[in-house]
Amino acid sequence: MKNIALLGATGSIGSNTVDVVLSNPDKFKIVSLSFYKNVEKGKELIRKLKPLYVAVGSSETAQELAPLFPKVSFGCGVSGLNEAATLSEVDLVLTAVSGSVGLFPTLAAIEKGKIIALANKEALVMGGELVMKAVYRQQISLLPVDSEHSAIFQCLQGQQRKDVSSLLITASGGSFRDLSRQQLEQVTVEQALQHPNWSMGSKITIDSSTMMNKGLEVIEAHWLFDMDYDKIKVVLHRESIVHSMVILKDGAYLAQLGPSDMREPIQFALTYPKRMTIQNARPFDLSEIGSLHFEKMDF
Ligand code: NDP
Ligand code: MG
Repeated sequence: MKNIALLGATGSIGSNTVDVVLSNPDKFKIVSLSFYKNVEKGKELIRKLKPLYVAVGSSETAQELAPLFPKVSFGCGVSGLNEAATLSEVDLVLTAVSGSVGLFPTLAAIEKGKIIALANKEALVMGGELVMKAVYRQQISLLPVDSEHSAIFQCLQGQQRKDVSSLLITASGGSFRDLSRQQLEQVTVEQALQHPNWSMGSKITIDSSTMMNKGLEVIEAHWLFDMDYDKIKVVLHRESIVHSMVILKDGAYLAQLGPSDMREPIQFALTYPKRMTIQNARPFDLSEIGSLHFEKMDF
Protein backbone atom coordinates (compact mmCIF):
# COMPACT_ATOMS: atom_id res chain seq x y z
CA MET A 1 0.00 0.00 0.00
CA LYS A 2 1.38 3.39 -1.05
CA ASN A 3 0.12 6.42 0.90
CA ILE A 4 -0.31 9.47 -1.31
CA ALA A 5 -0.55 13.22 -0.74
CA LEU A 6 -2.52 14.62 -3.68
CA LEU A 7 -1.96 18.36 -4.06
CA GLY A 8 -4.49 19.90 -6.45
CA ALA A 9 -7.02 17.10 -6.09
CA THR A 10 -9.88 19.03 -7.73
CA GLY A 11 -7.98 19.72 -10.98
CA SER A 12 -7.55 17.79 -14.20
CA ILE A 13 -4.44 15.84 -13.10
CA GLY A 14 -5.98 15.53 -9.63
CA SER A 15 -9.15 13.90 -11.04
CA ASN A 16 -7.15 11.49 -13.20
CA THR A 17 -5.08 10.55 -10.14
CA VAL A 18 -8.22 9.93 -8.07
CA ASP A 19 -9.43 7.68 -10.89
CA VAL A 20 -6.18 5.63 -10.81
CA VAL A 21 -6.23 5.42 -7.00
CA LEU A 22 -9.88 4.36 -6.76
CA SER A 23 -9.33 1.72 -9.44
CA ASN A 24 -6.62 0.18 -7.25
CA PRO A 25 -7.83 0.51 -3.64
CA ASP A 26 -5.55 -2.34 -2.50
CA LYS A 27 -2.45 -0.51 -3.80
CA PHE A 28 -2.99 3.20 -3.11
CA LYS A 29 -4.57 5.41 -0.48
CA ILE A 30 -4.86 9.20 -0.53
CA VAL A 31 -4.02 10.21 3.03
CA SER A 32 -3.89 13.96 2.43
CA LEU A 33 -5.11 16.25 -0.32
CA SER A 34 -5.49 19.88 -1.23
CA PHE A 35 -7.87 22.05 -3.17
CA TYR A 36 -8.18 25.80 -3.55
CA LYS A 37 -11.51 27.35 -4.58
CA ASN A 38 -13.62 24.42 -5.73
CA VAL A 39 -15.12 23.69 -2.29
CA GLU A 40 -18.06 21.60 -3.58
CA LYS A 41 -15.82 19.19 -5.46
CA GLY A 42 -13.41 19.25 -2.52
CA LYS A 43 -16.18 18.15 -0.12
CA GLU A 44 -17.14 15.35 -2.46
CA LEU A 45 -13.51 14.16 -2.52
CA ILE A 46 -13.24 14.23 1.28
CA ARG A 47 -16.37 12.04 1.53
CA LYS A 48 -15.04 9.63 -1.07
CA LEU A 49 -11.37 9.41 -0.04
CA LYS A 50 -11.55 9.97 3.75
CA PRO A 51 -8.13 11.65 4.04
CA LEU A 52 -6.48 12.44 7.36
CA TYR A 53 -5.49 15.97 6.36
CA VAL A 54 -6.87 18.53 3.89
CA ALA A 55 -5.31 21.84 2.80
CA VAL A 56 -7.75 24.43 1.45
CA GLY A 57 -7.48 27.93 -0.03
CA SER A 58 -8.50 30.08 2.95
CA SER A 59 -8.93 29.94 6.73
CA GLU A 60 -12.67 30.68 6.21
CA THR A 61 -13.03 27.50 4.15
CA ALA A 62 -11.07 25.52 6.73
CA GLN A 63 -13.39 26.82 9.50
CA GLU A 64 -16.47 26.05 7.42
CA LEU A 65 -15.41 22.46 6.69
CA ALA A 66 -13.92 21.44 10.05
CA PRO A 67 -17.31 20.80 11.79
CA LEU A 68 -18.58 18.86 8.76
CA PHE A 69 -15.63 16.45 8.85
CA PRO A 70 -14.61 16.05 12.51
CA LYS A 71 -12.11 13.25 11.75
CA VAL A 72 -10.15 15.38 9.26
CA SER A 73 -7.50 17.99 10.15
CA PHE A 74 -7.58 21.15 8.04
CA GLY A 75 -4.98 23.74 7.09
CA CYS A 76 -4.79 26.50 4.50
CA GLY A 77 -2.45 28.44 2.24
CA VAL A 78 1.17 27.47 1.69
CA SER A 79 1.56 26.14 5.24
CA GLY A 80 -1.43 23.87 4.63
CA LEU A 81 0.11 22.57 1.39
CA ASN A 82 3.42 21.96 3.18
CA GLU A 83 1.66 20.11 5.98
CA ALA A 84 -0.31 17.94 3.53
CA ALA A 85 2.93 17.08 1.70
CA THR A 86 4.98 16.23 4.77
CA LEU A 87 2.54 14.25 6.91
CA SER A 88 4.41 11.33 8.45
CA GLU A 89 1.98 8.82 6.86
CA VAL A 90 2.77 10.07 3.32
CA ASP A 91 5.07 7.99 1.07
CA LEU A 92 4.59 9.84 -2.23
CA VAL A 93 3.49 13.39 -3.05
CA LEU A 94 1.76 14.01 -6.36
CA THR A 95 2.12 17.72 -7.06
CA ALA A 96 -0.84 18.66 -9.27
CA VAL A 97 -1.46 22.24 -8.16
CA SER A 98 -1.13 24.72 -10.98
CA GLY A 99 1.28 27.64 -10.85
CA SER A 100 4.27 28.68 -8.83
CA VAL A 101 2.76 27.79 -5.44
CA GLY A 102 3.77 24.17 -6.13
CA LEU A 103 7.44 24.93 -5.45
CA PHE A 104 7.00 25.22 -1.67
CA PRO A 105 5.36 21.88 -0.84
CA THR A 106 7.66 20.15 -3.37
CA LEU A 107 10.74 21.40 -1.51
CA ALA A 108 9.20 20.65 1.89
CA ALA A 109 8.36 17.07 0.83
CA ILE A 110 11.85 16.44 -0.58
CA GLU A 111 13.38 17.61 2.70
CA LYS A 112 11.25 14.98 4.48
CA GLY A 113 12.44 12.25 2.10
CA LYS A 114 9.11 11.74 0.29
CA ILE A 115 8.95 10.37 -3.27
CA ILE A 116 7.77 13.13 -5.64
CA ALA A 117 5.52 12.51 -8.64
CA LEU A 118 5.84 15.88 -10.33
CA ALA A 119 3.06 17.29 -12.49
CA ASN A 120 3.63 20.89 -11.35
CA LYS A 121 6.29 21.81 -13.91
CA GLU A 122 6.37 25.37 -12.56
CA ALA A 123 8.33 24.09 -9.53
CA LEU A 124 11.23 23.15 -11.82
CA VAL A 125 10.86 26.19 -14.06
CA MET A 126 11.07 28.51 -11.05
CA GLY A 127 13.35 26.59 -8.77
CA GLY A 128 15.03 23.86 -10.84
CA GLU A 129 18.43 24.31 -9.26
CA LEU A 130 17.03 24.39 -5.72
CA VAL A 131 14.80 21.37 -6.32
CA MET A 132 17.45 19.21 -7.99
CA LYS A 133 20.06 20.02 -5.34
CA ALA A 134 17.58 18.94 -2.67
CA VAL A 135 16.72 15.78 -4.66
CA TYR A 136 20.41 14.75 -4.86
CA ARG A 137 21.08 15.67 -1.24
CA GLN A 138 18.10 13.71 0.05
CA GLN A 139 18.56 10.88 -2.49
CA ILE A 140 14.83 10.79 -3.26
CA SER A 141 13.05 9.82 -6.50
CA LEU A 142 11.58 12.64 -8.58
CA LEU A 143 9.24 10.97 -11.06
CA PRO A 144 7.84 12.96 -13.98
CA VAL A 145 4.08 13.06 -14.62
CA ASP A 146 4.12 15.50 -17.56
CA SER A 147 3.51 13.18 -20.53
CA GLU A 148 6.59 14.22 -22.55
CA HIS A 149 8.89 13.85 -19.56
CA SER A 150 7.34 10.56 -18.52
CA ALA A 151 7.95 9.36 -22.10
CA ILE A 152 11.62 10.40 -21.94
CA PHE A 153 11.96 8.85 -18.48
CA GLN A 154 10.45 5.59 -19.79
CA CYS A 155 12.79 5.59 -22.83
CA LEU A 156 15.78 6.12 -20.53
CA GLN A 157 15.06 2.97 -18.49
CA GLY A 158 17.99 0.60 -19.00
CA GLN A 159 20.10 3.20 -20.84
CA GLN A 160 23.38 4.64 -19.66
CA ARG A 161 23.46 8.42 -19.36
CA LYS A 162 26.71 8.63 -21.34
CA ASP A 163 25.00 7.01 -24.35
CA VAL A 164 22.28 9.67 -24.60
CA SER A 165 22.92 12.25 -27.29
CA SER A 166 19.79 14.43 -27.15
CA LEU A 167 16.08 14.64 -26.33
CA LEU A 168 13.26 15.27 -28.80
CA ILE A 169 10.09 16.69 -27.24
CA THR A 170 6.92 16.47 -29.30
CA ALA A 171 4.42 19.36 -29.43
CA SER A 172 0.81 19.13 -30.58
CA GLY A 173 0.96 22.81 -31.49
CA GLY A 174 -2.07 23.72 -29.36
CA SER A 175 -5.34 25.32 -30.47
CA PHE A 176 -3.82 27.81 -32.90
CA ARG A 177 -1.32 25.63 -34.71
CA ASP A 178 -2.85 26.24 -38.15
CA LEU A 179 -3.42 29.99 -37.85
CA SER A 180 -1.34 32.68 -39.55
CA ARG A 181 0.09 35.62 -37.63
CA GLN A 182 -2.73 37.77 -39.03
CA GLN A 183 -5.42 35.29 -37.92
CA LEU A 184 -3.87 35.18 -34.44
CA GLU A 185 -4.84 38.83 -33.96
CA GLN A 186 -8.54 37.81 -33.87
CA VAL A 187 -8.45 34.83 -31.49
CA THR A 188 -10.43 34.62 -28.25
CA VAL A 189 -9.77 32.99 -24.88
CA GLU A 190 -12.59 30.51 -25.57
CA GLN A 191 -10.86 29.39 -28.76
CA ALA A 192 -7.53 29.11 -26.94
CA LEU A 193 -9.20 26.79 -24.42
CA GLN A 194 -10.18 24.28 -27.16
CA HIS A 195 -7.11 22.02 -27.18
CA PRO A 196 -7.13 19.65 -30.17
CA ASN A 197 -5.77 16.54 -28.36
CA TRP A 198 -5.73 16.88 -24.57
CA SER A 199 -8.28 17.81 -21.90
CA MET A 200 -6.36 19.80 -19.27
CA GLY A 201 -6.70 22.67 -16.80
CA SER A 202 -7.13 26.17 -18.21
CA LYS A 203 -3.64 27.55 -17.46
CA ILE A 204 -1.78 24.78 -19.28
CA THR A 205 -4.29 24.85 -22.16
CA ILE A 206 -3.71 28.57 -22.66
CA ASP A 207 0.06 27.99 -22.34
CA SER A 208 -0.26 25.32 -25.04
CA SER A 209 -2.07 27.67 -27.41
CA THR A 210 0.77 30.21 -27.15
CA MET A 211 3.46 27.46 -27.20
CA MET A 212 4.67 28.79 -23.84
CA ASN A 213 3.98 25.34 -22.40
CA LYS A 214 6.63 23.85 -24.69
CA GLY A 215 9.14 26.43 -23.48
CA LEU A 216 8.33 25.49 -19.89
CA GLU A 217 8.73 21.81 -20.81
CA VAL A 218 12.18 22.38 -22.30
CA ILE A 219 13.23 24.00 -19.00
CA GLU A 220 11.60 21.13 -17.09
CA ALA A 221 13.52 18.56 -19.20
CA HIS A 222 16.79 20.46 -18.71
CA TRP A 223 16.50 20.08 -14.93
CA LEU A 224 14.96 16.63 -14.77
CA PHE A 225 17.44 14.98 -17.13
CA ASP A 226 20.47 17.22 -16.58
CA MET A 227 20.59 17.97 -20.30
CA ASP A 228 22.09 21.06 -21.97
CA TYR A 229 19.51 23.27 -23.67
CA ASP A 230 21.12 22.85 -27.10
CA LYS A 231 20.50 19.10 -26.81
CA ILE A 232 16.74 19.47 -26.26
CA LYS A 233 14.82 19.85 -29.50
CA VAL A 234 11.09 20.32 -30.13
CA VAL A 235 9.21 18.86 -33.09
CA LEU A 236 5.59 19.54 -34.11
CA HIS A 237 3.62 16.28 -33.99
CA ARG A 238 -0.09 16.93 -34.46
CA GLU A 239 -1.33 13.48 -33.52
CA SER A 240 0.21 13.48 -29.99
CA ILE A 241 0.78 9.74 -30.34
CA VAL A 242 4.56 9.83 -29.84
CA HIS A 243 4.86 11.46 -26.43
CA SER A 244 8.59 12.21 -26.84
CA MET A 245 11.89 10.58 -27.84
CA VAL A 246 15.45 9.98 -26.72
CA ILE A 247 18.24 9.94 -29.32
CA LEU A 248 21.24 7.78 -28.49
CA LYS A 249 24.79 8.47 -29.64
CA ASP A 250 24.73 5.57 -32.13
CA GLY A 251 21.78 7.22 -33.90
CA ALA A 252 19.01 5.05 -32.41
CA TYR A 253 15.75 6.88 -31.67
CA LEU A 254 13.74 5.54 -28.73
CA ALA A 255 10.13 6.71 -28.62
CA GLN A 256 7.22 6.17 -26.25
CA LEU A 257 3.76 6.01 -27.88
CA GLY A 258 0.21 5.74 -26.65
CA PRO A 259 -3.22 7.36 -26.46
CA SER A 260 -3.61 10.89 -25.03
CA ASP A 261 -4.54 9.65 -21.57
CA MET A 262 -2.85 11.26 -18.57
CA ARG A 263 -3.72 8.27 -16.40
CA GLU A 264 -0.84 6.39 -18.04
CA PRO A 265 2.04 8.68 -16.93
CA ILE A 266 0.30 9.25 -13.58
CA GLN A 267 -0.02 5.53 -12.96
CA PHE A 268 3.57 4.84 -14.01
CA ALA A 269 4.79 7.45 -11.50
CA LEU A 270 2.68 5.78 -8.79
CA THR A 271 3.78 2.21 -9.57
CA TYR A 272 7.39 2.85 -10.73
CA PRO A 273 9.36 0.71 -11.42
CA LYS A 274 6.45 -1.70 -11.78
CA ARG A 275 3.69 -1.65 -14.39
CA MET A 276 -0.02 -2.30 -13.92
CA THR A 277 -3.02 -2.79 -16.21
CA ILE A 278 -4.87 0.50 -16.72
CA GLN A 279 -8.62 0.30 -16.05
CA ASN A 280 -10.93 1.16 -18.99
CA ALA A 281 -7.99 1.87 -21.29
CA ARG A 282 -8.87 4.01 -24.30
CA PRO A 283 -9.00 2.18 -27.64
CA PHE A 284 -5.67 2.57 -29.42
CA ASP A 285 -4.98 1.05 -32.83
CA LEU A 286 -1.98 2.28 -34.81
CA SER A 287 -3.35 0.77 -38.03
CA GLU A 288 -6.43 3.00 -37.64
CA ILE A 289 -4.26 6.04 -36.98
CA GLY A 290 -2.44 5.16 -40.20
CA SER A 291 0.36 7.71 -40.33
CA LEU A 292 2.24 9.98 -37.98
CA HIS A 293 3.64 13.37 -38.93
CA PHE A 294 6.60 15.35 -37.65
CA GLU A 295 7.18 18.95 -38.73
CA LYS A 296 9.79 21.56 -38.03
CA MET A 297 8.61 24.24 -35.61
CA ASP A 298 8.49 27.50 -37.48
CA PHE A 299 8.32 30.58 -35.23
P1 NDP B 1 -6.14 22.53 -13.02
O1 NDP B 1 -6.34 23.99 -13.21
O2 NDP B 1 -7.12 21.58 -13.61
O3 NDP B 1 -6.06 22.21 -11.44
C1 NDP B 1 -5.24 22.97 -10.61
C2 NDP B 1 -5.36 22.50 -9.16
O4 NDP B 1 -4.58 23.34 -8.33
C3 NDP B 1 -6.78 22.55 -8.61
O5 NDP B 1 -6.95 21.53 -7.64
C4 NDP B 1 -6.82 23.93 -7.95
O6 NDP B 1 -7.80 23.99 -6.90
C5 NDP B 1 -5.42 24.01 -7.38
N1 NDP B 1 -4.90 25.37 -7.24
C6 NDP B 1 -4.91 26.35 -8.19
N2 NDP B 1 -4.31 27.47 -7.71
C7 NDP B 1 -3.91 27.18 -6.45
C8 NDP B 1 -3.24 27.93 -5.42
N3 NDP B 1 -2.86 29.20 -5.61
N4 NDP B 1 -3.00 27.31 -4.24
C9 NDP B 1 -3.37 26.03 -4.04
N5 NDP B 1 -4.00 25.27 -4.96
C10 NDP B 1 -4.27 25.84 -6.15
O7 NDP B 1 -4.65 22.21 -13.52
P2 NDP B 1 -4.07 20.87 -14.18
O8 NDP B 1 -4.53 19.68 -13.42
O9 NDP B 1 -4.29 20.91 -15.64
O10 NDP B 1 -2.51 21.10 -13.97
C11 NDP B 1 -1.89 20.93 -12.72
C12 NDP B 1 -0.37 20.95 -12.91
O11 NDP B 1 0.00 19.85 -13.74
C13 NDP B 1 0.13 22.21 -13.64
O12 NDP B 1 1.38 22.57 -13.15
C14 NDP B 1 0.26 21.75 -15.10
O13 NDP B 1 1.24 22.46 -15.82
C15 NDP B 1 0.68 20.30 -14.89
N6 NDP B 1 0.35 19.42 -16.01
C16 NDP B 1 -0.96 19.21 -16.35
C17 NDP B 1 -1.30 18.36 -17.39
C18 NDP B 1 -2.72 18.04 -17.72
O14 NDP B 1 -2.98 17.13 -18.53
N7 NDP B 1 -3.71 18.71 -17.14
C19 NDP B 1 -0.26 17.71 -18.21
C20 NDP B 1 1.07 17.98 -17.76
C21 NDP B 1 1.36 18.81 -16.70
P3 NDP B 1 -9.36 24.41 -7.20
O15 NDP B 1 -9.78 23.67 -8.43
O16 NDP B 1 -10.05 23.91 -5.97
O17 NDP B 1 -9.42 25.89 -7.33
MG1 MG C 1 3.25 18.07 -21.38
